[in-house]
Amino acid sequence: MKSGVVIVGGGIAGSALSIALARRGIGTTLIEREASWAPLSSGLFIYSNGLQALDRLGVLGAIRDSGWVSPDGGNLYLSADGEPITRTVYPTIGDEIPAIVGMRRVELHRVLADSLDKLKVNVRLGVTVTAIDDSQSTKPITVTLSDGSTLTCGAVIGADGIRSQIRTLLFGALEPTYTGFGVWRSTHAKPASIDTKIMMMGVGTRLGIMPISRDELYMFGTTREPGKPYYPRDQWAAVMRAKFAAFKGPAAPLLAEIDRPEQVYYTSVEEVHLPLPWSRGRVGLIGDAAHSSSPFMGQGGAMALEDAVLLAEMLDGADDVAATLTAFGERRYDRCKFVQDASRQVGQAGATEDKDAILMRNSRMQSSAQRDLDSFYAHLAQPV
Ligand SMILES: Cc1cc2nc3c(=O)[nH]c(=O)nc-3n(C[C@H](O)[C@H](O)[C@H](O)COP(=O)(O)OP(=O)(O)OC[C@H]3O[C@@H](n4cnc5c(N)ncnc54)[C@H](O)[C@@H]3O)c2cc1C
Repeated sequence: MKSGVVIVGGGIAGSALSIALARRGIGTTLIEREASWAPLSSGLFIYSNGLQALDRLGVLGAIRDSGWVSPDGGNLYLSADGEPITRTVYPTIGDEIPAIVGMRRVELHRVLADSLDKLKVNVRLGVTVTAIDDSQSTKPITVTLSDGSTLTCGAVIGADGIRSQIRTLLFGALEPTYTGFGVWRSTHAKPASIDTKIMMMGVGTRLGIMPISRDELYMFGTTREPGKPYYPRDQWAAVMRAKFAAFKGPAAPLLAEIDRPEQVYYTSVEEVHLPLPWSRGRVGLIGDAAHSSSPFMGQGGAMALEDAVLLAEMLDGADDVAATLTAFGERRYDRCKFVQDASRQVGQAGATEDKDAILMRNSRMQSSAQRDLDSFYAHLAQPV
C-alpha cells in the first residue's frame, strides 16, 4: 500500500487492525466515536484461534498476564440443580497458545490501547466520519471527520460494530437480525473453589460461570426474549436474579449477591447477515460490522481478531486495494457464516423448554459434546 489506512471504530477489530498494520509499517489513523474510550460490560473469553491472532499482534503475553488462563481448557456442564452432565476440553494450539483465556473487556481494551500507544498509532477520539470521497481511483480517498477536518488515505476500513455507519454509507441501511435471545451478565469476586469454565443447562435457559482474572469471575445467562422486550436499566439486577432463580449449585450464591444495577448488563442478541461483497472500491468492513454473530460460541471477538490479522497481511504490499478488499471478504465469508450458524444452533439447543427434549439433549451431550466441539475447532484449525 502506498498511502495509509483510516480505520473507523476502535473496538476489538479496529484496534487489532491498527496494531497489525502499524507492525508492518503501514500508517494508520484510528477514528473512535467515544471521547472516553473504555468498553462497558463485563467479561469475555477468547478461545485458541483468537489467542493465536493476539499472539500475531505481539500481545499474547500481556493478555495472559491480565486475564485468567484456563489450566486445562475444561468446560464442565451441569444441570440447573448443579448435577454433572458431562465435561469437554477445548483445544490449545501447540504448546504456546492456551485453549481459553477469560478476561475483563476493559483489560483486553487496555492491552490493545497500550500496544497502539507503543506503536504511535494516531488515535482520534470523540470524532466520527461524515463523508468519504473514493470517487477517483487514481487519487487518495478523502475522509471528512465530524470536527470538520479531513484525512487522505489509500483505504478506509469500517470496524464500527453491529450498527456500522460505514456499512450504511456503502450499502444503505441493514437492520441487524434479532435472534429472540437475551444475554444477562454479572461480575463477582471469584471463590477459590471455581477454577474452570462451567455451563449450567436449565429449562429454556443456560447459565455460564467463568473466571476472568485471579480474583474475579463473570456469569452469563441466556434467556428466550420473544418480541425484544425492553428492561429498564435499574431493574436488570432484579430481573436477572428472577430469571435464573431455578439455578442451584455454584450459581446460587452468585445469584444471591446480585443486588446492584451496575453489576448487570443486559443485551438483546442480534446478528448481521451481510452478503458479499463486504467492500465497495477502497472502503471495506471487518468485525461485527460485516458479520456479527450471536455469542453462544464466544467467537465474535476471535473472528474480529482473525479479520484484522488477515487483512493487514493482505493489504501489506497490495497494489490494487479494491481487489484486495474484495478478495478479503471472499476469504472470510464462509468461515464467519460457519461460526454464526454453529453459534445460533447452540443458542437454540440451550433454549429447549420441553422436559423430555431436555433429558434427550443432556444425554446426547454425554455422548457427543466433545465430538461436536472437536469438529467445530477442526474447522477453525483450517487456514483462514
Ligand atoms: C453478550 C455478548 C457476549 C459476547 N461474548 C464474547 C466472548 O466471550 N468472546 C468473544 O470473542 N466475543 C464475544 N462477543 C462478541 C464480541 O463482543 C464482538 O464480536 C466484538 O466486540 C466485535 O468487535 P468489533 O470491533 O467488530 O465491534 P465493537 O466491539 O462493537 O467495536 C466497535 C467500535 O466502533 C465504535 N464506533 C461505532 N460507530 C462509530 C462511528 N460511527 N465512528 C467511530 N467509531 C464508531 C464504537 O464506539 C466501538 O468502539 C459477545 C457479544 C455479546 C453481545
